[in-house]
Amino acid sequence: MNRSQLAYKIENQDKKWKDTLMDICEVARLCLHNLVGSNTPPLPRCYEREFEQAALHLGKEDVLDMARVDSDRQAYTIKTAILQASERIGEAKLILRDFDQEARRELGHMEHHLEALNSQLKLFDSRGFKAIVDSAVSFKDCGQGFVEELSRVIDEIDRQQEMLQALVQKVHEDPLTGVLNRRAWERDLKKLSGFVATQQNAVYSIVIADIDNFKDINDRHGHPVGDAVLKQFAAILKDHFSKTGAVYRYGGDEFTVIVKGFDAGSVQVEVDRLRQRLSQATFVAMGGMLRIRISASFGLSQGNCEMDVKSVISEADEMLYLAKKAGRNCIICHPS
Ligand code: GH3
Ligand code: MG
Repeated sequence: MNRSQLAYKIENQDKKWKDTLMDICEVARLCLHNLVGSNTPPLPRCYEREFEQAALHLGKEDVLDMARVDSDRQAYTIKTAILQASERIGEAKLILRDFDQEARRELGHMEHHLEALNSQLKLFDSRGFKAIVDSAVSFKDCGQGFVEELSRVIDEIDRQQEMLQALVQKVHEDPLTGVLNRRAWERDLKKLSGFVATQQNAVYSIVIADIDNFKDINDRHGHPVGDAVLKQFAAILKDHFSKTGAVYRYGGDEFTVIVKGFDAGSVQVEVDRLRQRLSQATFVAMGGMLRIRISASFGLSQGNCEMDVKSVISEADEMLYLAKKAGRNCIICHPS
């Protein structure tokens, strides 16, 4: 590519970004206008929902698609690269393992011949013959060293492969709390849509959990204490749904759970037990010096094959909003 081609390309890219920025500004302007006009509470999920609606209203879905496609593409590219590297390493390991086995076999043959040579030496007691046996022995020792080195290399490859596998997991893990992240949430919602489309009797529940007045904890004790609370909160959620559902950190202090195959009543009972467990738990921070009690609010909605997964999530979201409005530390279900 020559200079003028490069300049043309940069200019075109620039224009594309400028256009996108203008679109985002226009959507944000309408979004704010609607939020203020409808007196919507200042919650991140409300902003997000209003932003999506403003983009759809203005016919600027590209702005939404860009964000989704970029995050999906990044995850896909990282995962593919890691899997390809892991595959190549796996192939190399197989070759090395074959080579290792062959080297060991040859070493066995060598030892066998050496024993035969040694017994010949005892018979003939010839100096020249002894020199040959000595060099064969040192050659065998070299072979032994080589086989040991090969073993070490294979062990190292095993270790690297385990690390790569762990890296693949990390793409879908929230780094602070260790539960599934928003990327995994988007992936699993697509899977859930596909699953319910093929299963007539499938039912599932979406639970949205949000810590009450979490900002106060940050403001009063600092962010590291807030982080410690988030970690323990996520651990309790993960433990509570270990056999029945998957837990995701949606963002900030908001967590979501997908529970498949239980009726709405049982899920509500289970979530209420979780609510009580959380409000009775002591959250520990600063190496045990600080002990905090918290509570959380929950929105719950049940879906089936006739419902769009997105609308089930919106219902759960609405229910959480109502739970906060009702005074927090409670669950509101749809249908009630
Ligand atoms: P509500 O009862 O209505 O949910 O009130 P809230 O204070 O919990 O809600 P709000 O959404 O206003 O506050 C959430 C706060 O979470 C705001 C943000 O600074 C904080 N936060 C988001 N992510 C993190 C994080 O990773 N660590 C910490 N310590 N704080 C976070
Ligand atoms: Mg909160």
